[in-house]
This record gives sequence, structure tokens and C-alpha cells, in this order.
Amino acid sequence: MVSYDQSKKLAAERAAMVRHHLRGRDITDPGVLEVMGRLPREAFLPPDYAAQAYADNPLPIGGGQTISQPYIVALMTQCLKLTGSEEVLEIGTGSGYQTAVLALLARRVYTIERFNRLAESAQAVLARLGIENVEYFIGDGSAGWPEKRTFDRILLTAAVPSVPQTLLAQLAEAGRLVAPVGQETSQMLEVIEKKHDQLITTSVCGCRFVKLIGEFGFQQ
Ligand code: SAH
Repeated sequence: MVSYDQSKKLAAERAAMVRHHLRGRDITDPGVLEVMGRLPREAFLPPDYAAQAYADNPLPIGGGQTISQPYIVALMTQCLKLTGSEEVLEIGTGSGYQTAVLALLARRVYTIERFNRLAESAQAVLARLGIENVEYFIGDGSAGWPEKRTFDRILLTAAVPSVPQTLLAQLAEAGRLVAPVGQETSQMLEVIEKKHDQLITTSVCGCRFVKLIGEFGFQQ
């Protein structure tokens, strides 16, 4: 738990993070700015890292995984163009911070994480924050949600060598998928739109994510 003084300090740092690292760059989506301006990122971090919650950096969350840098969370969410009515599939729950941002901007989020410990901890934090429109699944998300169905949006928060066909098949018509695609050490953030069964890919920027490890991702 953080003290009253610490939480006041963190609130000021959160506002500064939104001003400098999101608004000050190219984040303009009002929903993204509003949600990231009120969601306590410190709640998703191991206690030793709480004081660094609003530096624009990825931070370790255990098991060799990281919570993404705030700017990247904002950029990926903005690329999804959420209006509030969507069902979103997220691969790589991690700390649950990105999951929470999505849940506050969409109708329902379905999130998959391969590490039990991370999935359970994320679920506990979201429950504590009163965020209830999320379904959790523990396992390999590289093949998508276990039941065959489609989603309006799909977000991969771990890198893939190429976007798995099974995930493209789970993208609904007029849907958008956002993913870091490329090699282990560097990727391109790509947006794929499905229009009349055609896929249109746009490259956003270079990025570096941990690997998506699974049947249709990287090998261990
Ligand atoms: N959005 C998260 C990012 C976590 S890093 C956050 O900000 O906290 C990516 C996550 O993807 C890690 O937790 C990792 O364990 C998970 N992951 C990797 N391969 C996966 C797979 N095949 N299925 C589900 N999750 C996977």
C-alpha cells in the first residue's frame, strides 16, 4: 500500500506523465488521455518499483516480463480506435495495466496470459479497482481465444515473427489488430484492418517487446 503523501505525489507525477509523454508527443485520443490520467499504474507494479511508476519506461514485473512503457500503451490503444462498444482480445495480460486501459474504453476484454502468477495478480488488481468487464484465460494465446469466435479488436502485447493466421481469422469484419511484428530484438508496430475480407497493413513505428512464446509465436 502507498501512503497518503506518496499517493498525492504519484497523482501529480501521473498528470505530468500524461502532459509530457502522451499529450506532448502524438497521443490525442481523449479517452486514452482521460483513462491513463486516472488509472494508478503503481498498483500494477511490484512495490519496490511504485516510485518509478510514471517515468516513461518499461519496468520488470517478474518472470523476465515487463510492463510496457506508458507511451507505448497509449499509442497501441489509440491505434485500436475504441468507441466503447467493442469486444477486445488481448494476448499477453502481463501486469494487467494495458488490460485495465482497454476495459475502461471498450465493452468487454478477453485477455490471455501464459504465466499463472501474472494472470492471477492482474486479475486481483483489476478486481480491487472495480474493473469487472474482463474474461481471463491462462495458456498459449498465439492461437487466439480457445472458443472459435471473432473480436472487434485484437491487441498483441508481445512480439511475433508474423501475425498468426488463427488470430487474423478471429478478427471481425471492420476490425483492427495491433501487434509488434519482426525479430526478437526489434519489431515494427503494425495495424491490420479487415475490410471486406481484405487485410490492410499500416506500419506505425519501431518498437521492442518481449517475445510471444507459443505454437504460432517464437520458440522458447
Ligand atoms: N501489456 C502488458 C505487457 C506484458 S509483456 C503489461 O503492460 O503489463 C507480454 C506478456 O505476454 C508477458 O506477460 C508474457 O508472459 C505474455 N506472453 C508471452 N507469450 C504468450 C502467449 N503465447 N500467450 C499468452 N501470453 C503470452
